[in-house]
Amino acid sequence: MCRSLRIPFLALAFTLGIIPAVAGDPVRDAMLGSAYSAHEGYGVLQRICDEAGGRLPGSPANDRTLRILEQELQKHGVAAHREAFTMPGWTRGDDAVTVLTPEPRPLRAIALGYVDARAAFDAPLVWAGRGREAECTGLRGSVALVTSEAPKEGESPLRYEVIGRAASAGARAVLFINDKPGGLLLAGVSNFLGTPAAVPAYSITYEEGQRLRRLLAAGHAVTVRVATASRCTPVTTANLVATFPGKRKARIVVGGHVDGWDIGQAAVDNGVGSATVFEIARLLARFSPVNEYTVDCVWFNGEELGIWGSAAYLKAHTQDSIIAMVNLDMPGRPTGINVMGHDALIPFARTFLAGLPGFSFTDSVISVPWTNSDHQWFLLEGIPSFTFMGHLEKESVHHYHDMGDSFDKVDRRALVDASAVAALLVRELANGTALPLRRTPLEERLENFRRSGMEQRLKRQGQWPF
Ligand SMILES: [Zn+2]
Repeated sequence: MCRSLRIPFLALAFTLGIIPAVAGDPVRDAMLGSAYSAHEGYGVLQRICDEAGGRLPGSPANDRTLRILEQELQKHGVAAHREAFTMPGWTRGDDAVTVLTPEPRPLRAIALGYVDARAAFDAPLVWAGRGREAECTGLRGSVALVTSEAPKEGESPLRYEVIGRAASAGARAVLFINDKPGGLLLAGVSNFLGTPAAVPAYSITYEEGQRLRRLLAAGHAVTVRVATASRCTPVTTANLVATFPGKRKARIVVGGHVDGWDIGQAAVDNGVGSATVFEIARLLARFSPVNEYTVDCVWFNGEELGIWGSAAYLKAHTQDSIIAMVNLDMPGRPTGINVMGHDALIPFARTFLAGLPGFSFTDSVISVPWTNSDHQWFLLEGIPSFTFMGHLEKESVHHYHDMGDSFDKVDRRALVDASAVAALLVRELANGTALPLRRTPLEERLENFRRSGMEQRLKRQGQWPF
């Protein structure tokens, strides 16, 4: 009997109770061992980064990524299917922002998502601080220069809010100065609703932005040319789903977004999460294919442009009883678990971490809901959701949403640790028939969202559904 056949027998024997529980949990140990000794997620991640690269939904690179995952999953006997959906798409065009006076020079600039094509125009550049109400006067006919630096007190205005305010004040475009030096750009969306931005908005580098700011402060007349060719068009894309039918229909969802910004390789955000979900699927297929609950491993699409794929998944699965969700968005070396407002699961999470004394979970368990990743819609539905707190090396996160988010920045060991721990958590949940995996009643949910600031944040983004 070959090795790969022996292990499932072990899994079956354990499940049937042939091997007594006092012997420990050989399936768990086998999963853990294979996560380290036969880890394949790193190689899959390399293929995604090198053969596909940056991958907005609807792009050939995005489709190629799905094909790579399908091929690699197939090698491990995992059948995955695509669940197509349509979303507001966006294609980057040949955009250009050029300084005309006092000294002609092209700027390193990238349009934000959902910035739509506009004929080239020249306009004076005007300083608009952080883009708060009082700073957006005198912008008529101008291009507004805005800093992204966080204020000493209070919250930073969202880029979405600043664009709306500047456009209402008559600005013809907005340039956001990145708050991180080093020639970095910060890709992101101009709004969360998928509607064309009121005016073109760009991310520019800290260094060039500060220079323009100094020129304006010194009284120079700065003129810029803005030529925007990017386009908003609906796209049909797909989530990739690998289902492991359980003894019960109730479903555990584990996912990470597969799409990523086009300017880099989207390695850390979120090739790492995609590779982790791949490893979970591989480990389940080999060691724990049938569990009490059904498990869906999902590679969500369209997250960066407004978390469209997870919304589509929930819409397509309203008839399925989803009882828990684990989201893997830029997981680092796990340092703890966040149960995101589902406090009844704190004891379980603590016991789970305590059962892995070989790891260093310095953050233990917290319960703080957060927004803007795929678990957001699950939380709004009251579905118990988990994310990991994790440590990422500075070098790994430094290039967040920039062209430098590439395979060479990935911390291989952190990826292996995340895969091992996340796979075990999913298996525990998939067999956790005694766990309080219940949807939170609406009243309690609303109270949680109010207390955590989630309500306020989602209202600002136009994503509050209640
Ligand atoms: Zn992400």
